[in-house]
Amino acid sequence: MAIFALALLLSHPISFAIRSGRLALFTLAPSWKVHLGQIALILLVGAVLFAVTFRKLGIDYNRWRVLHKGVILVVIFAFLHSFVIGPDLQPLGMKLYWIALFAIALAIFLFRNIYMPLRGRRRFRVDAANKVTHDTWNLVLKPEGGSVFPYRPGQFMFIKVLRETKPVEEHPFTISSSPTQEGFITATIKESGNYTNTIGDTKEGDTALIEAPLGRYSFQFHKPERLLFIAGGVGITPFLSMLRYLRDTGDERPVTLIYANKTEDDIIFREELEALPVHMKVVHVLSQPDENWNGPRGFVTAEVIKEHAGEELETADIYLCGPPPMMEMLLVVMEGFGVDDERIHFERFEI
Ligand SMILES: Cc1cc2nc3c(=O)[nH]c(=O)nc-3n(C[C@H](O)[C@H](O)[C@H](O)COP(=O)(O)OP(=O)(O)OC[C@H]3O[C@@H](n4cnc5c(N)ncnc54)[C@H](O)[C@@H]3O)c2cc1C
Repeated sequence: MAIFALALLLSHPISFAIRSGRLALFTLAPSWKVHLGQIALILLVGAVLFAVTFRKLGIDYNRWRVLHKGVILVVIFAFLHSFVIGPDLQPLGMKLYWIALFAIALAIFLFRNIYMPLRGRRRFRVDAANKVTHDTWNLVLKPEGGSVFPYRPGQFMFIKVLRETKPVEEHPFTISSSPTQEGFITATIKESGNYTNTIGDTKEGDTALIEAPLGRYSFQFHKPERLLFIAGGVGITPFLSMLRYLRDTGDERPVTLIYANKTEDDIIFREELEALPVHMKVVHVLSQPDENWNGPRGFVTAEVIKEHAGEELETADIYLCGPPPMMEMLLVVMEGFGVDDERIHFERFEI
């Protein structure tokens, strides 16, 4: 969207330059009214370039996120510029319309950045923080007052755990419990970076501020007849929620889960997955198994999918969640199978 907005905004001075035959709008223009627009454009170009390069520059995501909020200045400068200079905005009706659009943009910004962090978070208490594999933790969270908010299986939340250990940051995690499990929610978190490597420092009794439910990654938004879930590593979390929900509600729709990991030790909630009802088939695929493993080995390739979920490819809604290279590969595989885009749903854990 940002790149599209930039292209639209750039087309404005470019079309002016083409029409007037001068590059005046790109140079130091004579009027402060034009300068306002130039500042907006420079800020937007800078923000977009920074957003696509900050990882390569080695800048931490959270630092970038704070700086990125400065993009609101683009809206302010662009509004002022168009308001004082645009001939189309001279009629009163247009002026009011333009002010209303600006007010909506500003209100959304203030809501997200002032109201939500200060007042809009739900307060939960960490009831338990358990290690479930060698590098994955399960946080059990209970509301500090009242009951758990309504959510759909597969949706996610932003959590900020207030704790003594640094860093104290807000991160997105799937709600891995199911709405059928009343009185608590869980987050299943893999140690995979600066913050998540410290998740084991979370203590019983810590307060967690939660913004939820978010996202539309749930079969409940699509009503499919059968389901094929393909997960890689911690990408199992939305499927944990959905499978628990399907199990607890006695849903008899056929479900196949293909779950990729490196080794048997990496499989999260293996016992629970293997105890699912028979119409929920679970296929573990391991890329680095030991010699005793007699299930599929390697990656989740077209052949593996065809062998274990050939029928589902015809009619099932297919949900993908895993590491970025796996997701890219699976999308190509699905295209190769000729699966309609409407039947493919995926959640990206990288933002
Ligand atoms: C919708 C969604 C659901 C997710 N669900 C789960 C889950 O159930 N279990 C799980 O283990 N992981 C989940 N993740 C991934 C998890 O949010 C990241 O692994 C975590 O934020 C990485 O932070 P880090 O500091 O440990 O890693 P870093 O190595 O510092 O960051 C790695 C990458 O994670 C992303 N990231 C870092 N900080 C933030 C932040 N504050 N907010 C958003 N993204 C950030 C950035 O893309 C960054 O490049 C989910 C992500 C999303 C978007």
